[in-house]
Amino acid sequence: MKALVVRAAGLAPSVEEIRLPEVGAGQIRVRIRAAGVCHSDLSMVNGTLNPPYPLVLGHEAAGEVVEIGPDVTRVPVGAHVALNWSPPCRTCWFCENGEPWLCATANIAALENGSTLDGAPLQVALGLGAFAEEVVVPAHAVIEVPSSLAWESAALLGCAVLTGTGAVRNTAGVRSGDSVLVIGLGGVGLSVVAAARAAGASSVIAVDVSAAKKALAEAAGATDFIVSGDTLSKDVRVLTGGRGADHSFECVGRSGTIRAAWRATRRGGQVTVVGMGRGDDMVQLSALEIFSSARTLRASVYGSSDPDLEVPQLAQDVLTGALKLDHLVTDRITLAEVPVAFERMTRGEGARSVVTF
Ligand SMILES: [Zn+2]
Ligand SMILES: [Zn+2]
Repeated sequence: MKALVVRAAGLAPSVEEIRLPEVGAGQIRVRIRAAGVCHSDLSMVNGTLNPPYPLVLGHEAAGEVVEIGPDVTRVPVGAHVALNWSPPCRTCWFCENGEPWLCATANIAALENGSTLDGAPLQVALGLGAFAEEVVVPAHAVIEVPSSLAWESAALLGCAVLTGTGAVRNTAGVRSGDSVLVIGLGGVGLSVVAAARAAGASSVIAVDVSAAKKALAEAAGATDFIVSGDTLSKDVRVLTGGRGADHSFECVGRSGTIRAAWRATRRGGQVTVVGMGRGDDMVQLSALEIFSSARTLRASVYGSSDPDLEVPQLAQDVLTGALKLDHLVTDRITLAEVPVAFERMTRGEGARSVVTF
């Protein structure tokens, strides 16, 4: 079966035949039907993250269960599932204290699973490696979704939508009437925009370096759009009664945009960092400004969510029309076209590219 494999840092990923392991106890095999190209995939090939190689990319995906291990009762063969890249163990301190998104056993960058045809052990991104025709994963890394849900929607629920929606609802707790600033309009940022609007935000100011994102931002529910520049915090103040935004969401993962979000937030406001950046990219805040601004700076990991509970709820919202995802998918591609999708992402074009099988 075919998968998109990165052989080494800096090398372009290419489609290869690979060998998956047999389905063992506690595991299932899923035939992938749709897989979104997430910025974290790009981070694994452009040097931002340093995962081991050879590596199968892909973690935002949905598919059909085609085989289950002897003891698996979680899902039957034939079930439609979204993949979960941070499946909680339910037994560690974090899981038992209501923070399953910080599970001590999850969030591994890569896991050894399967091999290349020349016999090298393969790593799979975030324990999944979903840019592949099939995956073999732990049963608790899938969440059943209604069979009437479109594959593309099911895939996006597993990363961009859960992350963006959870950041607004769970991490930040945006309330009706709040003013909200969103910096970085990829799949996650656009999901933040939509969730903030749905939460009743009085204004949702969407910001990107690319002017071409304006139409996407407005389709997602933004009330204002600003091309990122030196006057950002002044521009945001003009739109927020001179104070700055009640909530800012940084969906890029860079010190410069974290600083920009911080500066454009009102005194006492809240800055939520959703983007994942480099280990050596330092954010500078003075001791005085931390005190005098009285702002809160926090991170949102996987939307501070419990995917087992929230993915099925979000799936229902999509089916009833309360949550619209159509505007998020701007390109439908093949596995071999993922590197082209990375180039679009680097240029700041489009929203999600989704590999369909
Ligand atoms: Zn992702
Ligand atoms: Zn745990």
